[in-house]
Amino acid sequence: MLDFIIVGNGLAALAFAEVLLQNNCSFVVFGDSKLKSSRVAAGLYNPLIVKRYRPLQDAVDQIDFLRSFYSRAEQRLCAKFHHEKLTLRKFVSIAEQNDWFEHADKPQLANLLSNDLFTSAIEGIDSPFQYGVVNYTGHLDTNVFITKYQTFLANSGCFIAESFIYADLEFSSEFVTYHEFQASNVIFAEGYGVNQNPYFNFVSVPGTKGEGITIHAPQLKLTEIINSGVFILPLGNDLFKVGATYEWTDKTEQTTAAAREELTMRLKQVIQCDFEIVDQWAGVRPTTPDRKAIVGNHPQFPQLHILNGLGTRGVMLGPTMAKLLYDHIVDKKEIPTYLQAKRFWKQ
Ligand SMILES: Cc1cc2nc3c(=O)[nH]c(=O)nc-3n(C[C@H](O)[C@H](O)[C@H](O)COP(=O)(O)OP(=O)(O)OC[C@H]3O[C@@H](n4cnc5c(N)ncnc54)[C@H](O)[C@@H]3O)c2cc1C
Repeated sequence: MLDFIIVGNGLAALAFAEVLLQNNCSFVVFGDSKLKSSRVAAGLYNPLIVKRYRPLQDAVDQIDFLRSFYSRAEQRLCAKFHHEKLTLRKFVSIAEQNDWFEHADKPQLANLLSNDLFTSAIEGIDSPFQYGVVNYTGHLDTNVFITKYQTFLANSGCFIAESFIYADLEFSSEFVTYHEFQASNVIFAEGYGVNQNPYFNFVSVPGTKGEGITIHAPQLKLTEIINSGVFILPLGNDLFKVGATYEWTDKTEQTTAAAREELTMRLKQVIQCDFEIVDQWAGVRPTTPDRKAIVGNHPQFPQLHILNGLGTRGVMLGPTMAKLLYDHIVDKKEIPTYLQAKRFWKQ
């Protein structure tokens, strides 16, 4: 008998697997890799919405937690995928610079926005008004994280690269049976794929498509992250990830010429050197109407749980939400009402 079956193999599912490993629980993960959101994510994390100077709820605690969380995973997997890195905002006027200092003086933003400007010139970018510096930022190389994690789980005999068939799940009073597996709990972490899940079809994950491009720009000598209308993430070897778009009607993972054009236009407002687009990628973020994650158990099937709605912030929310769900299932700790799946339950 296993403690858990996990359905999904994106940031949410693997964060939960990491919590289980830290707590010596037994589990198996079913992942079909059909959805690409976690793979294509730039993996950035940030304590505020930079454009609006709006701090995110519990951001500093979540960032402290994610840093130790991914660092433990790095040790387990003998790999490097988490990188602390400064994020810069390019100022386009003195007024914008003054605005920054005004916000940096506010108590709720004091630790998040630096009072010292980034004054070094960056080749490839004209920025006479310099840059503001956001603290507590960095990124997770999600591709390395997922690939290494899946390999580790597969080698430990607890990863099955196939789709979970909902109709094959059978219930007993204390446990569930799925093919040859019996388990006390099932964690559904399918991202936008939750819309195919008959047990959790009452939650609302309409999803938001996002696209990005990878550029080759040998004249751009940028080593920090830029967040100014677009994000620019240096990858090394003169390659940079640039993103992202937001699209609410198209729910496919096909790349589009429109997104490519939009990103090119926005990028040209930030950098002033030549670049070539060498790749383009798309995914559907599992967003919710109230922009909150969905964490908790099914109102009628106590063995079934959900970890979803990580939206635009899977890297930052994944570890905290996975821990919250684990503590709820094992130690009966309360999940805040605004995160519970039950908030969508109308029957
Ligand atoms: C362009 C773009 C840029 C982004 N940038 C960032 C960023 O910089 N920082 C950040 O934090 N977030 C970013 N995000 C958001 C981030 O990608 C999501 O928050 C995160 O990927 C959600 O992870 P998830 O595990 O919930 O879902 P997913 O990544 O969708 O993973 C779900 C997995 O479960 C599998 N699955 C589904 N159903 C089944 C089934 N029945 N059986 C087996 N497997 C199944 C899917 O195939 C998939 O592999 C970005 C997203 C996009 C699209």
